[in-house]
Amino acid sequence: PTDPNPTGSRSPRLTVVSGPTAVGKGTVVAALRRAHPEIFVSVSATTRAPRPGEVDGDHYLFVSEAEFDRLIADDELLEWAVVHGRHRYGTPRGPVLAAIEAGREAVLEIDLQGARQVRQRWPDAYLVFLAPPSWDELVRRLVGRGTETEEERTRRLDTATRELAAESEFDTTVVNRDVGRAVADLVALLGL
Ligand code: 5GP
Repeated sequence: PTDPNPTGSRSPRLTVVSGPTAVGKGTVVAALRRAHPEIFVSVSATTRAPRPGEVDGDHYLFVSEAEFDRLIADDELLEWAVVHGRHRYGTPRGPVLAAIEAGREAVLEIDLQGARQVRQRWPDAYLVFLAPPSWDELVRRLVGRGTETEEERTRRLDTATRELAAESEFDTTVVNRDVGRAVADLVALLGL
């Protein structure tokens, strides 16, 4: 794979934002994109169905199982994972490399398994762990979202317990007390 930071400059080129489920990764990265449209934010492919209001090609590329198989077979994904034991999610490689080649900062908002794959393949990638202010707050956010079934919530809490232990694998931690503060911290870390 191409090293996105071949000059070894201190400015990170490929940044991964990950963390426990329902910590607010999606909200924070969406706000970062609005504040800094010059950043390239990857749109993931997924086999899960769209939620109400989600737009194909904007929130995700919603693809069939067969199409996801093809993306893997053709090596078009930079990383991919089965998240919450159900659906597959992956980062299309081409747009990320094109953005980096064009000199843009690229940001991936992906789960922990994906972050580990990026770490393996791009040792210079910058890994940011988005942490909840507390475990209670994480549970409140997870339940408060109200878009999942009871079974789905249990599965996600399970995943979150394991994910919280992964913080030490990351380059740095941003605590998501509120979106504005978290975005400001990310902007500072990216040197924007
Ligand atoms: P949701 O279904 O709630 O939109 O997302 C579920 C989880 O999938 C989130 O934790 C999100 O970070 C993760 N995710 C979204 N896109 C990707 C991706 O391209 N790769 C990986 N590994 N995880 C992803």
